[in-house]
Amino acid sequence: MSSLNAKNKDAFHELASEKSGSKGPKARLRNCARPMAPGTAVGGCAFDGAKVALQPITDVAHLIHAPLACEGNSWDNRGAASSGPTLWRTSFTTDLTEIDIVMGHSERKLFKAIREIKDGYAPAAIFVYSTCVTAMIGDDIDVVCKRATDEFALPVVPVNAPGFVGSKNLGNKLAGEALLKHVIGTVEPDEPGLCDINILGEFNLSGEFWQVKPLLDKLGVRVRACIPGDARYLQVASAHRSRAAMTVCSTAFVALARKMQERWDIPFFEGSFYGISGTSEALRRIADLLVKKGADPSLLHRTEILVAEEEEKVWKRLEAYRPRLEGKRVLLNTGGVKSWSVVHALMEIGMEIVGTSVKKSTLEDRERVKQTLKEENLVFESMSPRELFSLLLERKADIMLSGGRTQYIALKAKLPWLDINQERHHAYAGYEGMVQLARQIDLAIHNPMWPQVREPAPWEQALVV
Ligand code: SF4
Repeated sequence: MSSLNAKNKDAFHELASEKSGSKGPKARLRNCARPMAPGTAVGGCAFDGAKVALQPITDVAHLIHAPLACEGNSWDNRGAASSGPTLWRTSFTTDLTEIDIVMGHSERKLFKAIREIKDGYAPAAIFVYSTCVTAMIGDDIDVVCKRATDEFALPVVPVNAPGFVGSKNLGNKLAGEALLKHVIGTVEPDEPGLCDINILGEFNLSGEFWQVKPLLDKLGVRVRACIPGDARYLQVASAHRSRAAMTVCSTAFVALARKMQERWDIPFFEGSFYGISGTSEALRRIADLLVKKGADPSLLHRTEILVAEEEEKVWKRLEAYRPRLEGKRVLLNTGGVKSWSVVHALMEIGMEIVGTSVKKSTLEDRERVKQTLKEENLVFESMSPRELFSLLLERKADIMLSGGRTQYIALKAKLPWLDINQERHHAYAGYEGMVQLARQIDLAIHNPMWPQVREPAPWEQALVV
């Protein structure tokens, strides 16, 4: 438990430095290290955050050491896509009962579950997640995992992020810590290359990364590890031999990127594959970092050629959408890296931003939003449903882009809505994704049902007469 406390402190330190910029350093640390109040984990506990961050590693069995309820439904809780294994989507839990806990059987049950998974599914590795109950009764999952690793000659990785230690965001960071401590650097790759990179915080939602990878392939840049989206265990384990890295979701794995830079001298930058200029800039920065680390300088020139070709193609394809979308007013209620990258992408196709939220965004993300929008009053923190409803009407939005939780606010305001968060069904990354985004917004705004929906209901018409 003491090592868990130290790990949490370290991760909290990261949160403090990123999130609470307006306070002094002491106040920041004091606030971030404050214990959780009951109910704070509503909307995602630390365990949930750790599992969300690691589950897309597809050939790993994810075993939840807990009573049944912590696991919930692991099938399609997010739209991360796999190009091969499906093991990651199967629910494994030790399903502890009161008898197991009272009789002290839980560690034995965990060991047995690991053996059953190894025999029945032959996974590349097993990740074991601690939860509130098993942490509170003092189960030492580190020791059980170590014993299982030695006995079964299979990597069994403890992920210490029980729900009560903090928020989902903290869980994301503890997941990175688990990879750093137990996985990354444990396998040496066969042929390390001068153009190998890591992409961190890319979840491959709806197969988004598959729209970007072909661009990197054309440049001869090899993605050694995309963590976690569509990753394989061995790719993650050998990620320390990459020459450069890009973090896509900066809240999830930026601490991991920093620590990999310190430990293995892998330089990184925070970027985005949303929008045309965002994608082009990301490709240029990847090439730049690789050349600085020893790759052939012709990579820079080849990148410029590719960017010019792709941009020309995508602008041509977007021509059809521009007159239909230009000047349309959009309210964005998302967060993190999307708070600025999607804003930028929408402005590129001529849409007008009437507001964007910056919840879960880092200080750097917030700075970028401000630079892009140049108007402070368009940026808001999270809002109550009532406030969001009023904002949509006040600012005369034509569409809201957000996650599923707020879709009914837009529909109540009789406005189109498009899912931009993790449950989305369309891939919006890369040049290809930009065309898809324009298409989906066009379909939503110009759906012929809206004029009918906005007509007064028959009984209202009767009242008017
Ligand atoms: S880990 Fe704790 S907070 Fe999270 S789901 Fe389980 S019991 Fe609830």
